[in-house]
Amino acid sequence: MTGIAEHHPTAITSRQRTSLRNHLAGDREQTRLLVERLAEEMGAFLTSRRDSPTDDEHDPEGPTLAFERSQSQAMLDQSRQHLAEIDAALSRIATGTYGRCASCGGDIALGRLQARPHAGLCITCAGRVR
Ligand SMILES: [Zn+2]
Repeated sequence: MTGIAEHHPTAITSRQRTSLRNHLAGDREQTRLLVERLAEEMGAFLTSRRDSPTDDEHDPEGPTLAFERSQSQAMLDQSRQHLAEIDAALSRIATGTYGRCASCGGDIALGRLQARPHAGLCITCAGRVR
């Protein structure tokens, strides 16, 4: 091993960026499928109380229907937002601004990106927004 002198504590290497991009791409595909499935589920809720063809144990006529519908809607909203965050992160990778905080312009710590590859804010700014 020849010690490559790239010891930026925060800036990510292109290799790390590639790995994060792959992670995002995989996450995007999963989230997209989830959004599709949930949207279908909501459509089924809306069109009727027909039995769904799934082998779900839940009684489609039960009093939990409204609750389940609101759960699905909330999950759908979340998934759509997550998808938008992933897309935004992927476009930041494409434009070369990935890993930079959208608010203060500082580097987002690698550990944070590894935990949340779609993060657009550094931990400090993210804490401030909430
Ligand atoms: Zn920041």
